[in-house]
Amino acid sequence: MKFHVLTIFPEFFRGPLEHGVVARAAESGILSVQVHNLRDWTFDRHKTVDDRPFGGGEGMVLKAEPIFLAVESILPEREAGRKVILLSAQGRLFDQPAAKRLSGCEELLLICGRYEGVDERVAEHLADEEISIGDYVLSGGELAAAVVIDAVARLLPGVLGNEDSAVFESFTGEDGQLGVLDCPHYTRPAEFRGWSAPEVLLSGNHEEIRRWRGRAAREKTARLRPDLLEKMKVAQS
Ligand code: SAM
Repeated sequence: MKFHVLTIFPEFFRGPLEHGVVARAAESGILSVQVHNLRDWTFDRHKTVDDRPFGGGEGMVLKAEPIFLAVESILPEREAGRKVILLSAQGRLFDQPAAKRLSGCEELLLICGRYEGVDERVAEHLADEEISIGDYVLSGGELAAAVVIDAVARLLPGVLGNEDSAVFESFTGEDGQLGVLDCPHYTRPAEFRGWSAPEVLLSGNHEEIRRWRGRAAREKTARLRPDLLEKMKVAQS
């Protein structure tokens, strides 16, 4: 799978994508990440990518033209499987089913906004989807793009060492549907500062362990994320 990122801060991605699972997947050729500098699609001396908002007000807005030109040259063919995504606080909330859905794409181009945001014509006439990673405002789309790439990349076949580890994870239900939280995990020592790991996990009884994990996952979900159980109920009804 190929990821493209369009940003005015290409150096930002040196850190987050050069470690761990994503870096290993890139080395083994399962995915590639190409970072593009939006200023490469400007033609004035100052490589201007932003301008003042119509109607007045604070801050600057990223101009439509360099973004349209960049997207049209990076992804000239816009068929199913090749998607342009605008990272935006106003977008649909990104979740595990969305990550699963996007992991089926061949190519994703992620547009990172900055300042007050991006000329709305990009959301209206260029992007296939507008995605938010949470109900808070970041200073730029770069962190959000890195989050989307990481969440999608780890779902690609062959990226995780043990493929099962993506199956039994938080938010992961059957057939790409939303699921409950993962169960709690423990490792050595069995007793730490007087707190013991659940005995059943040391029992070697795989059936008992499987049942305990299912129960513990549901209990933790009910305690910390009852909203997930509600959403799952609605999705099943
Ligand atoms: N004025 C915008 C608003 O209130 O919705 C916020 C703009 S924000 C300071 C600048 C850029 O950061 C946005 O264009 C977007 O690309 C990115 N951004 C901010 N919050 C985000 C979020 N929750 N998810 C994804 N991207 C976000």
